[in-house]
Amino acid sequence: MFKLPKLPYSLDALEPHIDEETMKIHYGKHHAAYVDNLNKALSEHKELIGKPVEKLLSDIDQVPEDIRQGVINNAGGHANHTLFWNVMSPKGGGEPNGDFGDLLDKQFGSFDKFETEFEAKALTLFGSGWVFLIKTSSGPLEIKRHSFQNSPFLHGNVPILGLDVWEHAYYLKYQNVRAEYVKAWWNLVNWEKVAQNFKNT
Ligand code: MN
Repeated sequence: MFKLPKLPYSLDALEPHIDEETMKIHYGKHHAAYVDNLNKALSEHKELIGKPVEKLLSDIDQVPEDIRQGVINNAGGHANHTLFWNVMSPKGGGEPNGDFGDLLDKQFGSFDKFETEFEAKALTLFGSGWVFLIKTSSGPLEIKRHSFQNSPFLHGNVPILGLDVWEHAYYLKYQNVRAEYVKAWWNLVNWEKVAQNFKNT
């Protein structure tokens, strides 16, 4: 059965950009609920137990119809949040360097252009969802918006960076001002981890 993964830092470590109260609820309640509900759904189809969450999502057609939407929501929620915690660090921010930095420059024109496009996608996503930097099956990096907890794995893509723009991710501190949350979030991005995610795809 799936378990809530340990955070790589303490609940208050991302202050002041993401506050402790938000982390307590976001990680301890929302992420935990995705894990619990995923386990509940799978308990009705025990043959799926033991499959990694990425595999459940990328083979979604093999998930029986009666729990398919539940798996999309909750395996997606589990995978997305696990990525989100891991691409942030109290020591994050700045710009990626090395090969991965070069690749971003090449793909998007410059790091600033990448940031601008990513932010625009985050601000124009209507309702709840995510912005991801993904590696597509054909290779290049793309910035994609996904509604709800829909995971890039559903489409055979691998997310290497993800930003949660559900209101639960920022409302306590930023209220309705998503733009301020997104701006602050860049201070937390752990580019070494993102580069490593890219390497591992
Ligand atoms: Mn969330």
